[in-house]
Amino acid sequence: MAGKAPQISNDDAEEIRRQYERERSRRLKQQGTDQYNFTEGELAHFADDPYAAELAPRQPLTEELDVLIIGAGFGGIEAGATFRKNGIDNFRMLDVASDFGGTWYWNRYPGLRCDVESYIYLPFLEDTGYMPTERYVRGAEIFAYCQLLGRHFRLYDRALFQTKVVAMEWDEKQARWIVETDRGDRFCAQFVVTQSGIFSRPQLPGIPGITEFKGHAFHSARWDYAYTGGTTEGDMTGLADKDVGVLGTGATGLQVIPELARSARSLTVFQRTPTAVGVRDNSPTDPDWFKSLPKGWQKAREKSFNQLASGEDVDCPVDDGWSRFFRRMVDAANALPAGQQTLEAIGEAQELADYEYNEIVRARVEEHVSDPQTASMLKAYYRTLCKRPGFSDNYLPVFNRDNVNLVDVSEGIDRISADGVIVNGKAHKLDCLIFCTGFELGTTWSHQAGYDIKGRNGAKISDKWAQGLVTYHGLFSHGFPNIFFMGLTQTGTTINVPHMLQEQVDHLTFIIAHCLRNDCRTVEATQQAEAEWQQVIAAKNELRRPFQDACTPGYFNAEGRAEDRRSAIGSGMYFPSSEFFEMWENWRMRGDFEGLTVA
Ligand code: NAP
Repeated sequence: MAGKAPQISNDDAEEIRRQYERERSRRLKQQGTDQYNFTEGELAHFADDPYAAELAPRQPLTEELDVLIIGAGFGGIEAGATFRKNGIDNFRMLDVASDFGGTWYWNRYPGLRCDVESYIYLPFLEDTGYMPTERYVRGAEIFAYCQLLGRHFRLYDRALFQTKVVAMEWDEKQARWIVETDRGDRFCAQFVVTQSGIFSRPQLPGIPGITEFKGHAFHSARWDYAYTGGTTEGDMTGLADKDVGVLGTGATGLQVIPELARSARSLTVFQRTPTAVGVRDNSPTDPDWFKSLPKGWQKAREKSFNQLASGEDVDCPVDDGWSRFFRRMVDAANALPAGQQTLEAIGEAQELADYEYNEIVRARVEEHVSDPQTASMLKAYYRTLCKRPGFSDNYLPVFNRDNVNLVDVSEGIDRISADGVIVNGKAHKLDCLIFCTGFELGTTWSHQAGYDIKGRNGAKISDKWAQGLVTYHGLFSHGFPNIFFMGLTQTGTTINVPHMLQEQVDHLTFIIAHCLRNDCRTVEATQQAEAEWQQVIAAKNELRRPFQDACTPGYFNAEGRAEDRRSAIGSGMYFPSSEFFEMWENWRMRGDFEGLTVA
C-alpha cells in the first residue's frame, strides 16, 4: 500500500466525487440512527452474557470511598492503575461483566484482533514488562493482558463484578455521591469516574421480522461458542453442517468472516456498505528489538502516532496502514507552495490525496478477488475517515471460496423470515444468522450507560443531555460536581482509544489528588467555562461539517444526519487531539484550575 499512487486529474476527481455522492444517497435513510433496534424488550436476550461466571453470592457493601470507578474496561483499568501509582487507594471499581476487559471482555468472536499496533494499544507495557506476541495481537491476548493489569496493579481486590449501578445522586450536605447497585450496595463517594463503555451495548439492525427467525441468531459481541464450537482461533466444528448468514461488514465483519468461511458449510455475507480494506502486515514481535527499546519508548511512540494522525509532520516509528495514510495527508499539505497553505487549499490537496489512496485500496480488491462482479461489490466509495478503515490480509480472498456468497443489500433487506433472510424477493435459507452490526453509539449518554444521574437540586443528566452532551473539556459538566465523564465526550479523540483514555485519567488524577491533598470538597465546571467550550466544539464541528455531510452514512455522522447531536459522538469532539492534550498539559502546569470552581 506504500505503492505509487495513481495521478488523479481534476476530471477524475469530479467523477469520483459524483460516484461517492451516488453511493451515499443510495444508503441514506430518513430515520438515521433511529433505524436500529437495541437489546430491549423481545431483543433483550441478545445482550445476555454468555461468558458470565456463576453469580457468586456476596454481602451488599456500604462504603465510604474517595473514588468510585464505573466500568472496568481500559478506561477503568487505567484509572485504577494510575490511582495506585499516585497513592490513591480508597477506591472501588464496578462492572456488569465478570472480569476486567470491557470491550475485550464482551468481544470474543473468532478472528478478533487489535486493529491498532499492540505496542501502542496495550497500556503500561513498560510497567508490566509484558511483550505482546505480535504486532496486532489476538483479542484473547488483550483480554488476558487486562487480567494481568488487574493483578499487577492489585485491582482485583477493589473490583466488584456482575454489579450494575441502579441509582446515583449527589448529596449536597455531605458533598458526596450516593451510588446504589443491583447487588444492594450503597457507596458514598467523594468522586465518581465513569467510563460507561463505547462499544459495550450491541446494536441490532432494524429489519422487519427480526424476532421471527427460528434458526440460531446472536450478536458478534456475545459469541455463542456452545453453538458454533471452536475457539477464538476458529475451527468451529459446530458449523460444518450449517448454512450461516452474517450481517455487517465493518471492522468486526472483516475479522469474523474469514473464520466463518473456513468453518461453515456455506456462508452468505449480506453487505450494505463495503469497508475499505488496506494491508494488515502482521508479524511476530522480535524479542531482541523489544528488549532494545529505551526507557520511555511507549509514551513517545503513542504520542508520535497521535501527532501524525493529528496532522503534524513528525517522525513516527509506527509504520502501518494508519500511519502511512496520515503521512500521505501531511505530505499533501506540505507539497503546497509556501504561503499557499490555507485551510481551504490543504483541504483540497488532502481530498485529492485521499482519492488517490482509495484508488489503490480499490485496485487491491481486484488483485485479491477473481470474480469481477464480486470485486466491484467489494469496492468502497467514500472518503477514508467516513468510517473506520479496515486492514486485513485474509478478508478479500475469502470471496474466492465456493462456499461463500456475497449479497448486496445496499438498498435494504426485505425482511427476516422464520428460516432466513429475504433480499429483493429472493429467500436465503439459513440455519444461523450472526449480527456483526456494531454497537449502540447514536443514542443518548444515559441510554448507553443504562443509568441516570441526579446532580445538584435533583437535576437529571438525561434531561441536561437529552439533545446532546454539554460539558467543559468533556470530563466535567456544570451542576454535576465531582464526577468525571470519560470516553468520547466533547474531548480530544484518538484512533488509539487507550491513549485517549489515559490522557483523561492523567487529567482527572491530577485534580483528584489535588483535592484529597488539600481537603477540597468539590470540583465543578463553571457555567461560563462550559458555555465557552460549547462554542469551541460547535466551531470545530462546523469546520468538519462539509466532510461529514458528504460521507456515506455511519456512526461517525449519525447515519447521515449530522444535525442529530443526541449521542456523545454527535455532540462533537475536539480536533486535532494532539493540540488538545498539549492544552491540558499546560492547564495542569499553570495549576490555576481555569474553568473549574474548586471549593
Ligand atoms: P460497525 O462498524 O458499526 O459495522 C456495522 C455493520 O453492520 C456495517 O457493515 C453496517 O452497514 C451493517 N449493518 C447495520 N445495519 C444493517 C442493516 N439493516 N442491513 C445490513 N447491514 C447492516 O460495527 P463493528 O464492525 O462491530 O465495529 C464497530 C467499531 O468497533 C469499529 O468502528 C471499531 O472502532 C471497533 N472495532 C475494533 C476492532 C479492532 O480490531 N480493534 C474490531 C472490531 C471493531 P453500513 O456500513 O452500511 O452501516
